[in-house]
Amino acid sequence: MNATSAARALFVEAFSSTPIGTWSAPGRVNLIGEHTDYNDGFVLPFAIQHRTAVSLGLRDDDRIRVVSALTGDTVEVALRALDSLFPAQRDEVPDWARYPLGVAWALGAEGRRGVDLAFASNVPIGAGLSSSAAIESATAAALNDVWQLGLDRSTLARAGRRAENDAVGAPTGIMDQMASMTGRADAAIFLDCRTLTAELVDLGFVDAGLELVVIDTGVAHAHASGGYGDRRTACERGAAALGVAALRDVRVEDLPRAAELLDNVTFRRVRHIVTENQRVIDTVQVLRSEGPRAIGPLLVASHASMRDDFEISVPELDTAVEASLAAGALGARMTGGGFGGAAIALVARDDVDAVVDAATAAFAASGFRAPTCFTVAPSAGAARDD
Ligand code: ADP
Ligand code: MG
Repeated sequence: MNATSAARALFVEAFSSTPIGTWSAPGRVNLIGEHTDYNDGFVLPFAIQHRTAVSLGLRDDDRIRVVSALTGDTVEVALRALDSLFPAQRDEVPDWARYPLGVAWALGAEGRRGVDLAFASNVPIGAGLSSSAAIESATAAALNDVWQLGLDRSTLARAGRRAENDAVGAPTGIMDQMASMTGRADAAIFLDCRTLTAELVDLGFVDAGLELVVIDTGVAHAHASGGYGDRRTACERGAAALGVAALRDVRVEDLPRAAELLDNVTFRRVRHIVTENQRVIDTVQVLRSEGPRAIGPLLVASHASMRDDFEISVPELDTAVEASLAAGALGARMTGGGFGGAAIALVARDDVDAVVDAATAAFAASGFRAPTCFTVAPSAGAARDD
């Protein structure tokens, strides 16, 4: 069953009534540009075919109920109570419900009509494919329609981000929500995270006979804690020491001077961001001039920078990348925030099985849990399904 049918079925089961409609939004994979988003830089994600759907029913009061096939529990609150729950009292809300209720809060729920929401998803959870943005964007698209807010897609993406930052407490950037809101088939989104200007870039994977393989390590990452926040702080420290508003304003040519001003760890964090921004720009340029087969070396360089300078890889991700390249992938890198999650490999169609087999064998040889491998196709963003 696809996510849309599953959300409808759950709605009927949980709320014993019929929804007025179903909306859905995709997860995303980031082709290149990691941790650049919160540095006002560039990213190049694309929306994938895996989606989270929400079926919605209108209520006659000011309450909001949410239920998910993932967790099974129903959470209910008054819309006017959301302002006191978020951000201060978020601990009173079950973890998962902070995402949809946080979006309702970020959109300004007080005084709106009550709603019932039932969620179902086929986006892998916690795999770096942004199931969090998928649930936020599906919620934002649905509420924008039924509350007749008339907000554009970047404004809805910002509401999703606010939910993630303030209702959930994960200090993530705007990339995931923008990809989930604005994706198009066969294209990536070249996003300037400073201006939120988004440009679609043709990927041409189909014509070039290429597939993008995701190798999910199964190692869970947790954005709300640990290394992610620490890397953000290091970037802020670097920007302050270099006297710029954000690391976006540092160019590759400025790095020798930065090396003199910064301690070694901060310098390496800065160098990752500065070179990664340039790699995103280069990838767009190479896609347009030479086509997708030529971007492999940029993906490989991105992985090395995350492994060595930003230090957000883990042995499972390095193994996935190395095994893929050895089996003929044109390029490979970890994707997402790091510390677990998935790697991606750009692979000629005929080599997909060899790459999957090589990654699986390498994981077994290292004593890692078997990875989950599948291909992703650049797909459309948030939409109403029925
Ligand atoms: P990722 O975005 O990489 O999948 P995150 O940790 O950012 O990982 O977000 C995953 C969390 O989002 C889940 O643990 C859950 O709380 C919430 N979530 C995502 N999708 C759903 C869903 N369909 N139903 C309920 N909660 C969900
Ligand atoms: Mg997420």
